Amino acid sequence: MGKVAAMTGVREIEIKEYSVPKAEKGCVTMKVLKSNICGSDIHMWEGKHLFKNHVLGHEMVGEISELGEGVVTDYAGEEVKVGDRVVPVYYLTCQKCPACLDGHFNICTHGSDYQGQLAEKHPHFTGGFATHYIIHPNQYFYKVPDNVPDNVAAGANCGIAQMVYAMDISGIKINDTIVIQGAGGLGLFASAISKTMSANVIVIDSIGSRLEEAKNFGADHVINMRDFDTVEKRIEEINRLTKGRGANFVLDVAGVPAAFDEAVRIAKIGGTILELGNVSVDESQKVSILPGLITRKCLTVKGILRYQPWYLQKTLKFLEKYNNHFPFNSLTDRTYSLSESQLAMEKAAAKEITRAIIEPNKAE
Ligand SMILES: [Zn+2]
Ligand SMILES: [Zn+2]
Repeated sequence: MGKVAAMTGVREIEIKEYSVPKAEKGCVTMKVLKSNICGSDIHMWEGKHLFKNHVLGHEMVGEISELGEGVVTDYAGEEVKVGDRVVPVYYLTCQKCPACLDGHFNICTHGSDYQGQLAEKHPHFTGGFATHYIIHPNQYFYKVPDNVPDNVAAGANCGIAQMVYAMDISGIKINDTIVIQGAGGLGLFASAISKTMSANVIVIDSIGSRLEEAKNFGADHVINMRDFDTVEKRIEEINRLTKGRGANFVLDVAGVPAAFDEAVRIAKIGGTILELGNVSVDESQKVSILPGLITRKCLTVKGILRYQPWYLQKTLKFLEKYNNHFPFNSLTDRTYSLSESQLAMEKAAAKEITRAIIEPNKAE
């Protein structure tokens, strides 16, 4: 038998028990070691997402407990056996939908089908807040390097992989300046990754402690919006910090529509805006911009959702190399058992804790 934390209503979680099915052909069953609470888990729990009554959690690391028929390696060709630590990409790639046919596996039309299915439905173990997780045959997964701790590996398949992908396709070159709007998890990861690419990194936020953390994650300079309280003042400061050269790249991970307008103003001539922070398509999220600035400055705007699935392996390799250079392991401040999932979500939603981790097989 195993347990899952299923969403039974808005801000409601129930622990349900099911027997763990035998791993079918092409599937892998893993015992979940750690599961992060991500911002999007909180959105779902608050009812702001299409998913209803599914098993919560998508950022997890587990230990293989059973291999289905035909599975002998991970998606990088590395041999796998029972007991190995693995991380799955959290979405599926059907390889048949219009997006997959064009090679956009990251936006597969059926990407969320498995994650979003009802807890009652076979095979039940389809989310990270559970004692077990069953990796679907259409789901990439990779072995975790030995030196990457569970707490870090758990978050690899979402925010870190997304930022590794974003930086890798950004076109960033040695000594380019990148301005990162927002020093939350994504901003910190982006700061560290672009630092390893020899970029000059400037991070903007309005909370001093977050900016201090950004410095630990490689930021060369930080701009506090409380001190520089207008867009004009911030642009002036960016010009001062770059000796008048300006920002080649602006990465929006602030999560507010106004940041995009600011990105268009900040980016230098020929610059690139990487848009990740605005994901809602609700009419309330509209913002006015000056499109002429995009034309006159010949800007490139790249929208980036998720990551191509093979970037999870690149991310694990990145963490194997840089895990000790930046304090990735210090981002988690509390660990909860599976039965404490509701409490953990409440604390995380109220921002009483920075990053909570569920340890589903922890003794109660
Ligand atoms: Zn996530
Ligand atoms: Zn597809």
